[in-house]
Amino acid sequence: MHPLLKNALEGKRIDSNAALEILRHATWTEVVQVANALRQQKLPENRVGYTVFRIINYTNICSVRCSFCSFCRYDNDNDAYTLSLEEIRTKTKEAKAIGADQIFLQGGVHPGLPLNYYTEILEMLTQEEGVSVRGFSPVELKRMSENFKIPLPELLEILKKAGLSSVPGAGAEILSDRMREKLSPRKLNAKEWCDTMQLCHEHGLPGSANIVFGSDETEEEIIEHLTHIRDVQDKTGGFKSFVVWTFQPQTKDFPIRHVSGMEYLKLLALSRIFLDNVPHIEVSILGMGRELGEMGLHSGADDINSIVIEENVLKSQGLTSIAEAEAFIRQAGFTPYRRSLNFD
Ligand code: SF4
Repeated sequence: MHPLLKNALEGKRIDSNAALEILRHATWTEVVQVANALRQQKLPENRVGYTVFRIINYTNICSVRCSFCSFCRYDNDNDAYTLSLEEIRTKTKEAKAIGADQIFLQGGVHPGLPLNYYTEILEMLTQEEGVSVRGFSPVELKRMSENFKIPLPELLEILKKAGLSSVPGAGAEILSDRMREKLSPRKLNAKEWCDTMQLCHEHGLPGSANIVFGSDETEEEIIEHLTHIRDVQDKTGGFKSFVVWTFQPQTKDFPIRHVSGMEYLKLLALSRIFLDNVPHIEVSILGMGRELGEMGLHSGADDINSIVIEENVLKSQGLTSIAEAEAFIRQAGFTPYRRSLNFD
């Protein structure tokens, strides 16, 4: 076994240089074996989690215009939309009818919605519909703070009081400023993203983190990303899980490359090894499919994220009911358990 992996197996923290060395030179089989062993050491109950939430994209109007995004619209586009409170209620009731108890609110970064649009939706969802809410990426929160001229700490308290209980680590993609300049120059740079997540955690809003890879990022930039996540986590402990995604083909202008199954699993496994302070690693069944998802559960992951409650996104790859999710987990050799958004 690669000596650096032996260190990790003995519980020694590996530094960024060691992680880069492992990514480049260790075989994928030894990396996934060590990750699987670490997962069993840390979570010996052999359980795999899943959750049931619905993503509600409340608007597709966005002023950020990332180069890879085919979702965003200008406000005068024919198919631009912003959901009303009652439309969001209807979608929530549909989700509850098939077992969801959590809603994930995510925009567009709309430049013109008033603060009470957000607070009234949060109050309706939590107080009237009885669901818990994860919502708003760091760039949404920062732009709200600027638009409303309310300092971010104060804004977080207002949203929390209205019902927000968790934030997604959305919009991280690759936390390297060279890549961010290419992908999304109007989004937050790496430091701003990390500072915003840290502030959320400090204000009692934990959540998840992710990486999205498979463009022309370098191996060094992948490790830089993981290092940013681990550094924030050392300060706050607010990342309950980490998810590995790949870029999906969305726009013809955006360079994506094929990510092989072995490459995906190796990074998933390295995340378990390097992020020794993040309790849960999620494999993306929705993005990577069932076969790779099953292998991911033997490569360091202990969670399959959520069943799919959307008509339009990759449904064929996802798991669409609680029974299907539990059967999938059992077939992979684990005991399923249903968790909350924040793994409470
Ligand atoms: S911020 Fe989100 S919605 Fe806006 S362009 Fe970027 S990825 Fe698309």
